[in-house]
Amino acid sequence: MIDPFFAHRLLAWWDEHGRKDLPWQQERSPYRVWVAEVMLQQTQVAVVARYFERFMARFPNIHALASASLDDVLHLWSGLGYYGRAHNLHRAAAAVVRNYDGVLPNDQRVLMELPGIGRSTAAAIVAQAYGERAAILDANAKRVLARQHRVGGAPAVKALWELAESHTPADRVADYTQAIMDLGATVCVRRAPRCAVCPVAASCQARAAGDAERFPEAAARRQRRLERRRFFVVTDQTGACLLERRPAQGIWGGLWSPPERDDDCSVEAFLAAAGISERDVREVHNAPTLRHGFTHYDLDVLPIYVQIAKRPAEVRETGAAWIDPASHRLGVSAVAAKLLKATQTELFKA
Ligand code: SF4
Repeated sequence: MIDPFFAHRLLAWWDEHGRKDLPWQQERSPYRVWVAEVMLQQTQVAVVARYFERFMARFPNIHALASASLDDVLHLWSGLGYYGRAHNLHRAAAAVVRNYDGVLPNDQRVLMELPGIGRSTAAAIVAQAYGERAAILDANAKRVLARQHRVGGAPAVKALWELAESHTPADRVADYTQAIMDLGATVCVRRAPRCAVCPVAASCQARAAGDAERFPEAAARRQRRLERRRFFVVTDQTGACLLERRPAQGIWGGLWSPPERDDDCSVEAFLAAAGISERDVREVHNAPTLRHGFTHYDLDVLPIYVQIAKRPAEVRETGAAWIDPASHRLGVSAVAAKLLKATQTELFKA
């Protein structure tokens, strides 16, 4: 059963307790709302707040984003993860400039045709930027509604969308959208929800049943696998590193990285393939393994640092280059940044 006062209670709570000082709430332009929503898709508010300000300073409008190089965009996304979002944002900005004179459409269905904009993100944009009634179902709203109605199991997504539609009010839809996201982020949290201070506790079925943490029910988890890959961090006499641009598809798509190879690739084999003479090698150093977690697996990064006295005249690998990471605006993953940072420290100063 739908509580007819659900939205009213939620809005009253938000008026008093909701967050209203987030950077993207200060000027709810379609562009700012869109960028924030994409960043928030997989990342927590506190992290997004830092990245959002920098991104807006560099790309203050959709034209600036559309005309930027992908490297520039990835550079500002470095460390935020899920880099497909940055690729899509860049492609979508170009499409909006090309097809809609640089104005983000105010139609949910049209927005959903742009790269990286799904149903909930499109709804959040039209609700917050244009005040149009549209239901969102991001992770926070999903958790609140799944618990309110004790909805679980395979058909849950369809049922939750129907509930999201039913609860969304005609008035103050922008604030309601913020309110349900805020409730999920600050009160109806994943572990130990704060039901005692929840404005919609009276109608919450999971609270009544005492099993709130069971919802939303997670899909059956696949066994996490572990991969091991070797990363060669090669530095030349000038401090430049041999970097490869990763393929657009796959992890860290389009970012620059020290060359990654199979975990049994020897230093000799790597150097020979890269055209680096062993005579030019000054130092080889194995560094401790770094474990990096992805959504479905863990990656053990096995770093090998190699300093050489003279770089070869040619770069053999396609998409590779000698680059001084300190003096270029590059898109690099958090792992690559960590590996490269070590080259600036004591490792090679002997
Ligand atoms: S009562 Fe508890 S479980 Fe239910 S919506 Fe509120 S915080 Fe979530």
